[in-house]
Amino acid sequence: MSPDRPIYLDCNATTPPDRRVCEVVRHWTEFEFGNAGSRTHEYGARAKQAVEQARDHVANLVGCTRQDVIFTSGATESNNLAILGLAPHGVTSGRKHVISTQIEHKSVLEPLEALRRRGFDVTLLPPTPGGWIEPDELRRALRPETLLVTIMHVNNETGVIQDMPAFAEVLADHPAYLHTDAAQSFGKAIPGLENPRVDMLSASAHKVYGPKGVGALVARGRGFKRPPLEPLTFGGGQERGLRPGTLPVPLVVGFGKACELARQEAPGRQKTCRRYKEELMAALSPLCPTVNGDPARTVTHTVNLSFEGVDSEALMVALKDELALSNGSACTSHSYSPSHVLSAMCLSDARLASAVRLSWCHETRKPDWEILTPQLHALR
Ligand code: PMP
Repeated sequence: MSPDRPIYLDCNATTPPDRRVCEVVRHWTEFEFGNAGSRTHEYGARAKQAVEQARDHVANLVGCTRQDVIFTSGATESNNLAILGLAPHGVTSGRKHVISTQIEHKSVLEPLEALRRRGFDVTLLPPTPGGWIEPDELRRALRPETLLVTIMHVNNETGVIQDMPAFAEVLADHPAYLHTDAAQSFGKAIPGLENPRVDMLSASAHKVYGPKGVGALVARGRGFKRPPLEPLTFGGGQERGLRPGTLPVPLVVGFGKACELARQEAPGRQKTCRRYKEELMAALSPLCPTVNGDPARTVTHTVNLSFEGVDSEALMVALKDELALSNGSACTSHSYSPSHVLSAMCLSDARLASAVRLSWCHETRKPDWEILTPQLHALR
């Protein structure tokens, strides 16, 4: 990342692509342009082989098989496919109840709203003030007719990790499908996704140093039975008919490379991020920020802080030449309204108005806190 640009502290919006991933994407764009669906020649065969290898790399990160991986355009599409794709089964089986949480990304909340309009009953569990969901809340909300439970793994605004094994345990004797939006955790060495009771998970390449425009829905079999998904679009039958359309081979292969690298390097990256967080928190401590989200349950590469008395928009504008920050999800940041995640955590208006998210990666440069801390002080 260029030293004459602001330090990029918005890695939860998107991560900088790894140079090795870029090389692979370029190669498969420029030199290997075959359609993975072409059965009749070498160009197609080579593309198909590369796609299947990428599928293995995705599968290896979460302990599933290549048959469980459906390539999509990203986590938004994967979430839509998991939720809306299961709906026809809910209708035919008479199970029209879905459980999720108030702190999900819009790409989960909006398909759930669409289900509600189609006559489904949707229960949104509230988080604790620390931003996590109490497994007992799920236990209480379960009904015999619950079709699907969808709970995000790591929240994009607070970095709080949800206890997937605990939710899996609550569902041990219940037939409901369990889906998780793992956009922020996939490939980051955060345990929980390998749990076989997690039936479906959504992943996105651009959150794990890969290209934009590609992701996956992992739909595991329980016994020999896969979640009974129906496609949302129709066409050439690719991806087992669940996601028809010509596969973007360069993006898929780039995603595979990003997963291969994550498998090898994620623990080291996490260690570097932990050190970064310790230094950042030590540097900011004279300003007495309030941490939003239970620090004991938060990933190493994210912190959501409120500098009470300082409007977050003013702070971001004042520091924009030095730091690239955000005060919420990039998908909703064009409309400035208080975060639905922090609101659901019942934070005070003052904390809401002053909340900023800092998210980094193993390659993020360190700010010169000696210069920045007085600037932050001056905003009070
Ligand atoms: N879910 C979460 C938790 C996210 O943070 C994001 C990206 N902001 C998405 C889903 C959407 O991912 P994509 O950009 O791949 O559609």
